[in-house]
Amino acid sequence: MQTTYSSERIGGFGETVFAKYTRLAAQHQAVNLGQGFPDFAPPAFVMDALAEALLLNQQYAPLPGVPALLEAVARKASVQFKQDIHPQSEVQIVVGATEGLFACMQAFVNPGDEVILLEPFYDAYPADVIMAGGVPRYVPLLPQADGSWQLDFDELARAFTNKTKLMVLNTPHNPTGKVFTPDELDRIIALAQTYDALIISDEVYEHIAFTPHVSLASRPGGFERCLSISSIGKSFSVTGWKVGWVVGPAELIQAVRMAHQWIPFVVATPLQHACARVLESAAHPENTYYAELTKQYQAKRDLLMTALQATPFRPLNAQGSYFVMADSSALNYKDDVALCEDLPARVGVGAIPPSAFYCDAHKHLAKHLVRFAFCKSDEALKKAGVRLQGLNK
Ligand code: PMP
Ligand code: GLN
Repeated sequence: MQTTYSSERIGGFGETVFAKYTRLAAQHQAVNLGQGFPDFAPPAFVMDALAEALLLNQQYAPLPGVPALLEAVARKASVQFKQDIHPQSEVQIVVGATEGLFACMQAFVNPGDEVILLEPFYDAYPADVIMAGGVPRYVPLLPQADGSWQLDFDELARAFTNKTKLMVLNTPHNPTGKVFTPDELDRIIALAQTYDALIISDEVYEHIAFTPHVSLASRPGGFERCLSISSIGKSFSVTGWKVGWVVGPAELIQAVRMAHQWIPFVVATPLQHACARVLESAAHPENTYYAELTKQYQAKRDLLMTALQATPFRPLNAQGSYFVMADSSALNYKDDVALCEDLPARVGVGAIPPSAFYCDAHKHLAKHLVRFAFCKSDEALKKAGVRLQGLNK
């Protein structure tokens, strides 16, 4: 009998922070501002599209994706990237951004290749790098006195070496809410060009940005070396659908496709048809859906920020995504984990300890931070605000 049957590849992995803190919130009937998923219903046109699409076709989809969805994604990306995107050769449909990230790492990373990740990172990134046999190189984003987060470009330049295969960018950024500026994107592209590295640009929060979101692939020299990833979940409040897409140059998409064919093979056909209808409706010139979504989230962000101002937390800037980070130093907990383990029982609010988004050597950078999600009903946000104000006593 072996002591463990687990592969070394997954040996260091624990349960995701989202599973643990959602369970803890439920145990205490807390308002869950931890895991990022909307607690409100998706728009009616999204549910109508699902109902219509469910009856269309119940068999395997073509490997790239169903033509209607490839075309809808290509049309959307052509506008965003300011160039014509070919639906069959430059788009791959995947099982959410999560599979897109995994397939990209499998497609491009050889054992020993280095992959640059910005800290805090979305927690799947290092796991994906490790499962591909790559080596993560971490570069921190640093919180500034004005509440913004800055990337130290000298440190980023030092992280690039001739072993660098890839850099992962996420804009708008989970968990900091940072939206990268065109100038920052250009400087990242310049470094990738110097070291002939690829860039994965995770833009799942592309429609939740309170300052203009710019796709890395729309910048000069960006498209050629970029795998742009997005998905249906955040933009249409359907995180359970798990349909996403990777867009990039044909040669790179072909490599992603070769990995994808051995991961899920293809993505659920009825859901692909539903997504095609949803994207086409949202893109209609008379449909103001995306603008309304941004407005709705801006109001939710403001509601939560205002509520936090009246608590011991000091919220940092949130320019995009549906998360806000806050400084919790005034509460004198040992660290962010101790705080988030106690909050549901103490005041009935769930949150995420951001040290989960830092490598072991850098977890101390998050000791005094906490992440709140505001993709929740106004009632839930108000209730959480009142409960968090209880910490003043
Ligand atoms: N990237 C980031 C930054 C995310 O926050 C999420 C949310 N889960 C994902 C990727 C995964 O997206 P999906 O649900 O489409 O797999
Ligand atoms: N992206 C969501 C978050 O950051 C959750 C995703 C998940 O549960 N894996 O909260």
